[in-house]
Amino acid sequence: MSFDLLIKNGNVVLSDGVVKTSIGISKGKIAALGAPDAEAGQVIDAEGMTVLPGMIDVHVHFDEPGRTEWEGFETGSSMLAAGGCTTFFDMPLNGIPSTVTRPAFEEKVRIGENESHVDFALWGGLVPDHVDDLEGLSRAGAIGFKAFMSPSGNPEFESVDDLSLLAGMRRIASLGGILALHAESAPIVTFLQKEKEAQGLTGYDDYAESRPPVAEAEAVSRALMFGELTGCRLHFVHISTVEAVACIQRAKKKGQDVSLETCAHYLMYSHEDFRRLGVVGKCAPPLRSEDERKGLIDCLIRGDLDMVSSDHSPCEWKDKERDNLFQAWGGISGGQFTLLSVLEIAKARHLPLTRVAEWTAGAPAARFGLNDKGQIRIGADADLAIIRPDAPFRVEREKLFQKNKFSLYEGHEFPSSVAATINRGRVVFRNGKISQAAKGRWIRPSVLHPVR
Ligand code: ZN
Repeated sequence: MSFDLLIKNGNVVLSDGVVKTSIGISKGKIAALGAPDAEAGQVIDAEGMTVLPGMIDVHVHFDEPGRTEWEGFETGSSMLAAGGCTTFFDMPLNGIPSTVTRPAFEEKVRIGENESHVDFALWGGLVPDHVDDLEGLSRAGAIGFKAFMSPSGNPEFESVDDLSLLAGMRRIASLGGILALHAESAPIVTFLQKEKEAQGLTGYDDYAESRPPVAEAEAVSRALMFGELTGCRLHFVHISTVEAVACIQRAKKKGQDVSLETCAHYLMYSHEDFRRLGVVGKCAPPLRSEDERKGLIDCLIRGDLDMVSSDHSPCEWKDKERDNLFQAWGGISGGQFTLLSVLEIAKARHLPLTRVAEWTAGAPAARFGLNDKGQIRIGADADLAIIRPDAPFRVEREKLFQKNKFSLYEGHEFPSSVAATINRGRVVFRNGKISQAAKGRWIRPSVLHPVR
């Protein structure tokens, strides 16, 4: 037997355990497990290394077209590949136009197919005046829809009021789609921000206090009730509090079709870090207290968090530099470090690598209908992240692949590092370099679940 690529002698993370074996790859698919002496066009010796399924990051903002000074598919996908990610879902904002119409969606597909180094899917947007566009977006292949329950910070992407949220949910349910929600209560955060700014209180504590945990819990609870009423499947993005996790778990136990993600930064950093590291740590919801951070890790360990994403939300440095923190761009640039963060937590808490694979690849693939991805098994896409488990990686500016070279993670040392990233059998990243020839493919959900 002869393969295009053979990865030899790695500790391979399968869904039910870790085995030392070799992976034979042909035509972009995993063709065999075992057979270390088979012939191959290219061989990678993974002795002593961990081989995980390539990460699926369900939440990034690449800002193209329209705001490519912030990010773009080329730089953004390079950054993800350098972090062991082989598939990403791009959000319907902060490019211009927002991805709320079929033509805008199709334009983004074209750009991504030309520029992305790894596979990708695209979210469509639910905004008040475009409920009638949802069907076209679904037919065009949107992986799901995203709405904001509080102002998005971006004038080109309006948040939903309760009426348009209900109407959008009803429509998305009829299309069999999933609605992803930024769940913070608009009344609570708007009211508190006004109160703070009226008193001239615009520092780190003020920003965090204007978006308290109750704002997340209120929005999550309301959305769950709306979801139950309309039959709409839900996915909560960047959940940051133990209370919101508990609300969602209660709904799941009652049988509601709902999933949630948290982001690596809520597991790795707290409000104290925000004060220490500055505006690079501004995001919404804000970084939480140390107790909340530890509680969220406990939720992860208990199995109450389905997946971990990056919510890579970059900008130029000038958009961060404001005396009034309310006016600085809110978004963490950290897409390169999700898998390394989860691996660090797993190592510290002695969690099995099979769970890392589930949080970063298996669960996203299952939830969003990517049948050929998310697991290392014969017949699946050969999407792999090869990790040096004992070679630390210190985050420095010159090692960042994103367009704007600043990140919350600067100065942090991860206990492990990414040796290589393989997307459908092509080596996209190896030894610190991106293969410019590697091109990703646009993917769409394989199954929809319409509610009648
Ligand atoms: Zn986001």
